[in-house]
Amino acid sequence: MTGSDTRCGFIAIIGAPNVGKSTLLNQLVGCKVSIVSPKVQTTRARILGISQQGKAQLIFIDTPGIFIPRRRLDRAMVSAAWVGAGDADRILLVVDSSRGMDPNTRSIVDRLKKKGGQADLILNKIDLVDKPKLLALTNKFNETGLFNEIFMISAKSGDGIVDILSHLITRVKTGPWLFSDDQLSDMPQRVMAAEVTREQLYLKLHKELPYSAAVETETWQDQDDGSTRIEQVIYVQRDSQKAILLGRNGGRIKSIGADARLELEQMFGHRVHLFLFVKVREKWDDDPARYRDLGLDFNA
Ligand code: GDP
Ligand code: MG
Repeated sequence: MTGSDTRCGFIAIIGAPNVGKSTLLNQLVGCKVSIVSPKVQTTRARILGISQQGKAQLIFIDTPGIFIPRRRLDRAMVSAAWVGAGDADRILLVVDSSRGMDPNTRSIVDRLKKKGGQADLILNKIDLVDKPKLLALTNKFNETGLFNEIFMISAKSGDGIVDILSHLITRVKTGPWLFSDDQLSDMPQRVMAAEVTREQLYLKLHKELPYSAAVETETWQDQDDGSTRIEQVIYVQRDSQKAILLGRNGGRIKSIGADARLELEQMFGHRVHLFLFVKVREKWDDDPARYRDLGLDFNA
């Protein structure tokens, strides 16, 4: 296809942790590409999701939540989020309507304003608030002068997603597509597979395991019978965490592996043999190589 009648653009999805950015991305691209979890701050790496809408290709950048950083890892994540926003043709600022203009969102608005940028506002989780509150919120954000359009949506139910898409289609520039139209994500499958397992960790362990747990896909073998053999290592920082992860008689890790495998089979469309290993590695937070693997800047 030539560049004459096609459109293509990068769209950054930014916002405070837990406002629904990953849920929104998954709705926009119509398939699960980014980890979604009931806990805050689960997105570490920058992930692209692509939505093909007729002749327009919308390339979404899901960013880690922007918040006030404390640790080195936090600083790297926040820095990656701003780099993502800087690369984009358009910015969608996602807000949790039930939380409104909280300090995290306020700091993002201030920073966008300082940069002289423009953005579209996504008021998400409208299923949790009533109309009057929503209108008041709209006025408050309007006063900042920062937003071209304001959308009220529920990323969870899919309400309002179509409006965002039809808006974006007309806003991205004319030009050639950057990805073949069957490419869902530029995330390598190994990384995607590690994300699936990491999501299971969050779902099954809740508060028992810190965010520092990491999953890496060590081997990936496509077998003759059409199945894939995947070996992954889950890194934790202490023996006590390893014990929690394994569970009694290894029951917990088995259940994590079983659910991750089902998810992977659904995602890749064929059988998967998944093998999980748990290793203790102290202070991986301070290892520059880990940051490189995650596409983050150690010195951010
Ligand atoms: P992120 O940290 O911004 O990427 O947020 P996530 O997409 O991981 O979502 C955080 C939590 O909010 C999850 O529990 C989602 O199910 C929930 N959530 C997302 N969108 C909605 C929505 O429209 N309504 C409600 N009630 N919950 C939502
Ligand atoms: Mg997320």
